[in-house]
Amino acid sequence: MYDAVIVGSGAGGGTISQYLAKRGFRVAIVERGEEGGSVQRCRVRFNGQFVESAIAHTLGGSTRLFGGIMMRPARRDFQPGKFYAQYIPREDWEWPFDYESLAPHYELAEDLFTVAGAHQTIGPHIPQRNRPFPETPWSLTAANRSLLSRWQQSGLSAFRLPFAVSPSLCLKCPTCPGRPCPAGARSSAANRGVEAALRTGNAQLFTGFRADSLSFTNRKNARGVELTQRGTRKKLRLEARLIILAAGALETPRILLNAGLASNLPALGRYLSFHAGVMGVGAQRISTRANDVYSKQLGSTELYFGTSSFSHKLGLMQHIPLPRGDQLPRFWKKDLLQRGLGWVINHTQSFGLMLEDLPSAINKVTYTRDGVPHVHHRFHSYDLFRLNGARKLLRQTLELGGCFAAATVDNENARKHISHVVGTARAGRSPRNSVVNEHCRVHRLDNVYVVDGSVFPTSLGVGPALTIAANALRVGAHIAG
Ligand SMILES: Cc1cc2nc3c(=O)[nH]c(=O)nc-3n(C[C@H](O)[C@H](O)[C@H](O)COP(=O)(O)OP(=O)(O)OC[C@H]3O[C@@H](n4cnc5c(N)ncnc54)[C@H](O)[C@@H]3O)c2cc1C
Repeated sequence: MYDAVIVGSGAGGGTISQYLAKRGFRVAIVERGEEGGSVQRCRVRFNGQFVESAIAHTLGGSTRLFGGIMMRPARRDFQPGKFYAQYIPREDWEWPFDYESLAPHYELAEDLFTVAGAHQTIGPHIPQRNRPFPETPWSLTAANRSLLSRWQQSGLSAFRLPFAVSPSLCLKCPTCPGRPCPAGARSSAANRGVEAALRTGNAQLFTGFRADSLSFTNRKNARGVELTQRGTRKKLRLEARLIILAAGALETPRILLNAGLASNLPALGRYLSFHAGVMGVGAQRISTRANDVYSKQLGSTELYFGTSSFSHKLGLMQHIPLPRGDQLPRFWKKDLLQRGLGWVINHTQSFGLMLEDLPSAINKVTYTRDGVPHVHHRFHSYDLFRLNGARKLLRQTLELGGCFAAATVDNENARKHISHVVGTARAGRSPRNSVVNEHCRVHRLDNVYVVDGSVFPTSLGVGPALTIAANALRVGAHIAG
């Protein structure tokens, strides 16, 4: 009998495992993927069609592949009613906890993932750390220095993105992110979470085991987790005082549904949300490539809550990586077109602007007979309206930074980009429209918690990884008393 069985070793599960193990809890960590080696991608159906998903089944979960940006959200992300109240009911956007209750845990999560950042004002809107970041980032590339200074001259605030990559260990692979880091320079929930848990001697790791359901002692208490081993299909049950689910927003609902909780919790699997993204590119006269540093360096919250002429909630604008000219597909390599495109790509600045979709009960995950998640999702008309406005603002912002030929890129596939999926076991006050309470304990159960991205009521204006990790530490502190 363990003190806790933790299902999933990603941003939520890996983080809480080390917290509890360091405090003397005997924990079992169950991970359906394998340690190291090749990474299995989660197969997903999206509105009826199979899509390539980047979500990872491996030790460390999606943090093994993630982009490494660990941003705090704005305080007002947790109270978005000013922007959303006229479109959706309060119960759909309300968070049962706020930024202040997460604040100390953000700092600890940044320390755990050894985030490199400049001690600076990440403003407006984003609260500051009290102490310097644990690591110092690379110096800016010449192209980024130029962009930043043009923006600053125009009165626009931009800043160094907090980045969970250690500059001293980084090999500057052109294929980062999207692949496991070969040098351990990019932090993940595996190298910062699970490994630290195992070092305490209080944790046991079960890789290659998929959790399918829960077993119960009585109506309010779960006794254990039912597992199936990959390959052999051998069944195993792990028993514990506490069950902590962190299998990600596409898998945690499946385990709770299999445990027979659908009728008690109508929101289970619903309110699936993710970022609607706009990507902007602009050409700069100086080369945007650099061999000795990683050029994904800048972010801005200038458009986070819109502008005076477009006063709508948008989100973080951040660098996104483009392939280098010499990484273009082979069939383009020889011809002149490729050389032309290569020049353009090596002089391109590319930024994404995230905006959260409006949470809605009709957006949900269901499962095919063989357990593949089927995402049903439509953007609200207000999401599409904001996307439209965001395109123009992003283009103008790139032009302000000295980019010429700025344009936005939007295609159908970008709308199926579910790497930031959240919301399917959302936190709230009532079991009528939420699955877990403010401490992320499943309503009506005494000993089952959820600590992954599925508890988010809304998808925030920044990437979810840091908030998932900080929330896992908050819940860990609640459990450990
Ligand atoms: C390519 C990519 C880039 C990203 N970049 C960023 C970024 O720069 N910044 C940012 O903030 N966010 C980023 N994200 C998003 C971020 O990584 C995820 O939101 C975060 O990792 C989700 O944490 P989680 O704990 O909810 O789930 P995960 O990290 O996905 O972990 C879930 C774990 O549970 C395991 N699991 C699933 N089902 C079962 C089961 N039945 N039994 C046992 N184990 C199971 C999975 O294998 C996985 O290890 C990115 C995501 C991707 C895919």
